[in-house]
Amino acid sequence: MNTAPDSQPAGITVLGATGSIGISTLDVVARHPERFRVVALTAHTDVDTLTAQCRQFQPRYAVMADASAAEQLQQRLRGSAPDVQVLAGSAALVEVAGLPGVDYVMAAIVGAAGLLPALEAARRGKHVLLANKEALVMSGALFMQAVRDHNAVLLPIDSEHNALLQCMPDAYTTGTVPPGVRSITLTASGGPFRETPVSKLARVTPEQACAHPNWDMGRKISVDSATMMNKGLEVIEASWLFDLSVEKIRVVVHPQSILHSMVEYTDGSVLAQLGNPDMRIPISHALGWPERIASGAAPLDIAAIGQLQFTEPDLERFPCLALASAAMRTGGTAPAILNAANEVAVQAFLDRQLAYTDIHRAIDHVLEHANVQEAGSLEAVIDADARARDLAIDYLGTLSNRVGT
Ligand code: NAD
Ligand code: MG
Repeated sequence: MNTAPDSQPAGITVLGATGSIGISTLDVVARHPERFRVVALTAHTDVDTLTAQCRQFQPRYAVMADASAAEQLQQRLRGSAPDVQVLAGSAALVEVAGLPGVDYVMAAIVGAAGLLPALEAARRGKHVLLANKEALVMSGALFMQAVRDHNAVLLPIDSEHNALLQCMPDAYTTGTVPPGVRSITLTASGGPFRETPVSKLARVTPEQACAHPNWDMGRKISVDSATMMNKGLEVIEASWLFDLSVEKIRVVVHPQSILHSMVEYTDGSVLAQLGNPDMRIPISHALGWPERIASGAAPLDIAAIGQLQFTEPDLERFPCLALASAAMRTGGTAPAILNAANEVAVQAFLDRQLAYTDIHRAIDHVLEHANVQEAGSLEAVIDADARARDLAIDYLGTLSNRVGT
């Protein structure tokens, strides 16, 4: 791996370059031109942002998952970045995740669409910087096996999991039980509805759900943060990354989002990582690992923050948290089913086709009616995902309530 300052810059592919994590990643990469060379950038449909990024970083490849967006990108780049090769479609996403000249892959596509390219990066033995938690939720056993089989380095970008990694013993790598660890605690902000009366939640709008108090994120993860399904997915993610059962993973609500998670050791010591809520911090940690590099984040002024609070999550307010833990306990394809149902329900809520309080009902319905199988192959996982989406769509058809209209 070319990370020493006097060697050639390391190649990086950024999957989901135009999203919140992708933009923060390129912000950090631009601060370290001696360390990183952008080989490929990808997006779904956002031609404007990818055009600007291609002009700035001059990658070898730019991929648009959407074919007509790829044509537009090609035209826009003709004069300003003619050497960028524009590709289209999901096979091209996988291709640029596995290119020989790529050392680092930032997996920052949202949702199940990110699974195959992230898995390809693992199978090609890359440094996999994993923001796309849905990939691990869907296929944790297969993903971790691919990391082991191909000597990939899996570095979590989720602020909580990155914090946990930072609090682990020296030279610890993900996928094994950390020595001397008794439990881990994930912190959760509680999102925009932490104090909203439960009786008012049925009427909340997508705009309110996406107005997160501390983090500026994509719309899907913002809704997940509001319902706390995000924390539920993160419990599953942590279980795979650190090889711990759900019983050893605690969640506490911490509204300031300053303490990003903590590790409790058998001697009673608890180690935590703190920092401002700025995703460039975990991104820089993973890009620089095992060294430390500048992120551009403001220094933490703990005296100005003054107080850090921690409370138990209210499971009546956040039923998705319990659904996620139950799916992980069930095992097999249950987490993939949970994830797929959640993706459909969240999109329906964002499209004003579903009330906020029906998100958890839709997921519960799908989990009850889906057929859970062993998750021993990628085909089984993808099949479970597809069937769960069908069940969720059928369920939406049975509802008449709409939101925000
Ligand atoms: P976002 O919506 O801002 O960006 C998503 C990116 O994925 C965009 O570049 C989009 O073009 C691309 N994309 C979307 N659908 C696609 C498809 N079908 N095919 C190919 N590309 C597609 O999302 P985000 O907030 O950057 O989150 C990305 C991932 O990182 C998610 O899995 C999220 O859970 C995780 N994450 C985000 C944050 C955060 O602070 N934003 C924090 C922790 C984890
Ligand atoms: Mg997180």
